Amino acid sequence: MAREIIVGTARSAAPGVAKGFLHIADAPDGSPLNAPVVIVQGETDGPVLWLHGCVHGQEFCGTYIIHEVLRSLDPKTLKGTVVALPMLNISASQARQRMSPYEIYHGGDLNRQFPGDPNGSFTQQMAHRIYEPLKRYANVLIDFHTASTPDVRWALFPKVGGEVEALSERVARAFGYRATLPTPTTLLAGSAMMVAARDGIASYIAECGGKLRGFTDDAVTDAAERTRNAMRALGMLDGTVKDHGKLYYFSTFAWVTFQRGGLFQRSVACGDRLEKGQVIGTYYDAYGNIDGQATAPHPGIVLSVNGGPVVSSGDTLVHIGLDPREV
Ligand SMILES: [Zn+2]
Repeated sequence: MAREIIVGTARSAAPGVAKGFLHIADAPDGSPLNAPVVIVQGETDGPVLWLHGCVHGQEFCGTYIIHEVLRSLDPKTLKGTVVALPMLNISASQARQRMSPYEIYHGGDLNRQFPGDPNGSFTQQMAHRIYEPLKRYANVLIDFHTASTPDVRWALFPKVGGEVEALSERVARAFGYRATLPTPTTLLAGSAMMVAARDGIASYIAECGGKLRGFTDDAVTDAAERTRNAMRALGMLDGTVKDHGKLYYFSTFAWVTFQRGGLFQRSVACGDRLEKGQVIGTYYDAYGNIDGQATAPHPGIVLSVNGGPVVSSGDTLVHIGLDPREV
């Protein structure tokens, strides 16, 4: 039984593929900023899965993952509907940067501004226009992000209790990135993931690859297949759900910033276990001489580490998942 789903100019009222755009904001010259929308409605009833990428404008790996998923879908075999916005924060993507160049006040990080405010700042109004259809239609949200290097693979789901947490965890296990944070509600409170979860929508963030072209084709293919595995777990696609085995759940994470600048070369990879005091990377001076080492202030798992080649004080050195336990 077909249902009507309208996201911006994309209208789906029957099995098949509908395309359009969502007008999320206006540029300073008055021209509309339109985020592309694709709706794939299956012939059989099922959940509405909302996929979006480029909440942070230069995180294009998610765009490519979503495109790969969309190319593989067939309305004849799909149960339910996929709503996909592969390049969400469109003005930030056009500028190839994390936040929109049109945000001139505080709060420009879109993933800290949900559910948004129709009378707020540029980014708050944009969040409102995105969240309104998400809240109306979505049963499950998968939000794709990146960090700094191509080997980034980790994930978050909301630790909100009840059925929403249980379904979110099912998505996390079917996606199967080993390093996963069951996220306390106090963390990332303004993320689409956490706000959606509070509104009864199961949700998940996949962090895959680095910003701009800092990701591999293999990572895209792999993440697209993991997304389809999550869709199998949700009953949207036929087939056996692949078991990715145990995951490392951690309690929270620590952001560690550089206290100094210079040339920097990392010596750890994403997913590595860290001991306190372990060398993370080496500094070089402008003559090529070794000029010190960066060490881990906490034990844990490397979620993301700065790949250099040059850094300034205050840049993110390493993002560490704390208290990992295998579950
Ligand atoms: Zn991001």
